[in-house]
Amino acid sequence: MKLKDPSLLRLDSYIDGKWIDAGSKRFAVTNPATGDVIAEVADHGADQITAAIDAAVPAQKAWAKKTAKERAMVMRKWYDLIMQNADDLAIILTTEMGKPLTEAKGEIAYGASFVDWFAEEARRVCGDVLETPQSDKRLLTFKQPIGVFGAITPWNFPIAMITRKVAPGIAAGCSCVLKPAEQTPLSALALAELADRAGLPAGVMNIVTGMDAPAIGQTMCADPRIRKMTFTGSTEVGRILMRQSADSVKKMSLELGGNAPLLVFDDADLDKAVAQSILSKFRNAGQTCVCANRIFVQAGIYDAFAEKLAAAAAALKVGNGLVDGVEQGPIIDMQGFDKVKAHVDDALANGATLMTGGKPHALGGTYFEPTVLSGMTRDMRLFSEETFGPVAGLFKFTDEDEAIEMANDTEFGLAAYIFSENAARIFRVSEALEYGIVSVNTGIFSSEVGPFGGVKNSGLGREGSKYGIDEFLEIKFVCLGM
Ligand code: NAP
Repeated sequence: MKLKDPSLLRLDSYIDGKWIDAGSKRFAVTNPATGDVIAEVADHGADQITAAIDAAVPAQKAWAKKTAKERAMVMRKWYDLIMQNADDLAIILTTEMGKPLTEAKGEIAYGASFVDWFAEEARRVCGDVLETPQSDKRLLTFKQPIGVFGAITPWNFPIAMITRKVAPGIAAGCSCVLKPAEQTPLSALALAELADRAGLPAGVMNIVTGMDAPAIGQTMCADPRIRKMTFTGSTEVGRILMRQSADSVKKMSLELGGNAPLLVFDDADLDKAVAQSILSKFRNAGQTCVCANRIFVQAGIYDAFAEKLAAAAAALKVGNGLVDGVEQGPIIDMQGFDKVKAHVDDALANGATLMTGGKPHALGGTYFEPTVLSGMTRDMRLFSEETFGPVAGLFKFTDEDEAIEMANDTEFGLAAYIFSENAARIFRVSEALEYGIVSVNTGIFSSEVGPFGGVKNSGLGREGSKYGIDEFLEIKFVCLGM
């Protein structure tokens, strides 16, 4: 990996402001584009999680005593350093995760935006003076940091899923113990290196790398000193963490799986719908929780949409994300690759029509051809399971009620998309969709300003936006007798 600043490549856990070695106990990080081992990272377990909590408790007390402005000034410095080192961070991210470099650069800017945003939000955390119901009393609320929080993050956004949790938390005056995904620890450790350079006090952000996720998660959830868990990943693991946190009654934020419907109505702008569907479906090789999973197209526009989408998907350039012009990288690992292949095989075996792609890419490894399938039906796996890969499955519908019913027929409720030029329809359908996010006439909606989160089995709580900091605050009610 050729970096302008090679010292960003850290291989040990960051606990209490120090880099903690694990001796020979290390695990390999591989480049999914080539299969090459790129680093051997410290394999820490439950003991180091406890050591990190030991450090995070006193650090939180001191950090919370600082003014919001003092905390914001450190965060601003962290933000500047992330942006100044964006090129190196993008190379690290693409090398360990596989997304094209331009997407990685976009993620660095997106991830950094949460640091900038919450540095500002920290200064506007205000309690209230309430109108009193009795003349001999005064009623107040204080908003106070919840304390130490535990965070577990996935591999598909190795930078942004960390800053979207850590930034509101530390802005509010909390401290944290975070475990990144085992596929992508290098981006997390580079962020810690930059936080250290920015002057974030020791113990406020601790990053522990390790392979034994179940033991690490269990240790975080069982420790009563951790007052909140925040997690992004699969619904299955989210449920485990919620169960394990029950005994110590922790506050939970869960960003879990999705099964996003994308609805294209006859009155849509066809070319816009195609171009935005490509962005929604194929970015990050289809490996985002908000990627369109089921594409519902109204009968009148169905054939034209299918043809144009297939042509656009076939034109996507697949390859190593570090190569100029590549638009789709490899799938993260064989497990992910096998699921994508299984969904395609299942659809074809049950009567779907292949419009383009449909098989492993000639590049080998975990590369998969951008795929478009038409004639999809409800009994196929892709309807009820998240594919997490570059496969667009098209379902035909006749009227609005049918489209809404099919879109809502899932245990998930994260993001949904509507393409229509009819304002009344946009309102009706937006209201009827059982999702935390509805994106209208655009395939990309994420920013630090909009609240991100799902309903049903897609999770609890909202990240980013003016609401995101509330997840890390408690409201204290003070009743003052006069
Ligand atoms: P995952 O298996 O749930 O892994 C996510 C994180 O949880 C990783 O750090 C993993 O560690 C850890 N983990 C695994 N088993 C654990 C356990 N028993 N206890 C504690 N931690 C555990 O998810 P994934 O397959 O990597 O990620 C894809 C999923 O994330 C998809 O379902 C996607 O929709 C969802 N996602 C949701 C959002 C959102 O905002 N809603 C965003 C991105 C992704 P290891 O890496 O060490 O196994």
